[in-house]
Amino acid sequence: MNLRIPGPTPCPEEVLQAMAQQMVNHRGPEFAATLRRVTDGLNWAFGTSSDVLSFTTSGTGGLEVAIVNTLSPGDRVLSISIGQFGDRLRTIAKTYGAETVNYAPEWGEAADPAEVARLLDEDKTLKAVLVTHNETSTGVTNPLEAIAREVRARDRLLIVDAVSSMSSVPCWPERWGCDVVVSGSQKGWMVPPGLAFVWFSERAWEANASATMPRFYFDAAKTRDSLAKLQTPWTPALSLYYGMDKAFQLMRAEGLEGIFTRHESVASYCRSRVKSMGLNLVPVDEQFASNTVTAVWWPEGVDGKAISKKAREEHGIVLGGGQGKLDGKIFRVGHLGWFNQEDVAGALDVVESLLAAAPRSL
Ligand SMILES: *Cc1c(COP(=O)(O)O)cnc(C)c1O
Repeated sequence: MNLRIPGPTPCPEEVLQAMAQQMVNHRGPEFAATLRRVTDGLNWAFGTSSDVLSFTTSGTGGLEVAIVNTLSPGDRVLSISIGQFGDRLRTIAKTYGAETVNYAPEWGEAADPAEVARLLDEDKTLKAVLVTHNETSTGVTNPLEAIAREVRARDRLLIVDAVSSMSSVPCWPERWGCDVVVSGSQKGWMVPPGLAFVWFSERAWEANASATMPRFYFDAAKTRDSLAKLQTPWTPALSLYYGMDKAFQLMRAEGLEGIFTRHESVASYCRSRVKSMGLNLVPVDEQFASNTVTAVWWPEGVDGKAISKKAREEHGIVLGGGQGKLDGKIFRVGHLGWFNQEDVAGALDVVESLLAAAPRSL
């Protein structure tokens, strides 16, 4: 199967084999060494000088960690949402009692940093800003560095979903002035689902000291204190740590610059192939098109779901579909983690030939 969805992504054989190792005592010296190496790897990829925390949960659990450890019920926050995952982050905040002010550009568009600045100036009671770095549902990457600059200048807390961008495209939480930044193992890390990574700035730890949203399993301070002893508060998904340990060997060998360049060049190839097929990208302004996932409109009158089904059943190509209101209207090609241009070319060859043969109801 050529799994071309934006997570879970395929894993290298070495990673899968590393994960097949025997269990160890999670409070013993072997795991302590593994946790140190994996945390060093995370700090390297996040570009941070303080430790990134890891949690046994999927990316959404990491988003919940970010919210419940920095906010209190009744806190007012600016929710920037440009798609399904932005909406999810807002829903988590609301579920725990935050009040949200919504900035929600049309799906396909990126957020405008100037508008973020205006909204923050207009409402001084907004304590934090929620934003998705790379909106996986629409294939749009927000200008995070510029947004962070506006948020920093106004001294609010910036909570970032970088689940589908971190380690694949440049994302520098500390340098850019972000406060809480989240990623997940099944995206650009070449590891199966089940670990979330969350970095907290000094400001975020200060906010943590007075944040009263309820939390137990996802308590960041407990996790930080356990990490000081090279442990986790609860039994971690050991096999996933073995996988991360191996994945970092592979990532360090390629180098972050090499990884970023590969993502950028295959994404650019993917976009030009799609356009040469006469198809339209979901991102309205290609400047903000994602380098980890390409979202494409099915042509008018074509049964996209039938094409995706054929691609999977007859050619072993698994495409991403549309989420929420884009269901049946778009397809998405994941190009993050472990892949090369041939993987994407093979998938697009099949889409092209199936489209040419597809009946059109116009
Ligand atoms: C995949 C993803 C998530 C996390 O989803 P899980 O299914 O919980 O791992 C969150 N945000 C974005 C932008 C994503 O792409």
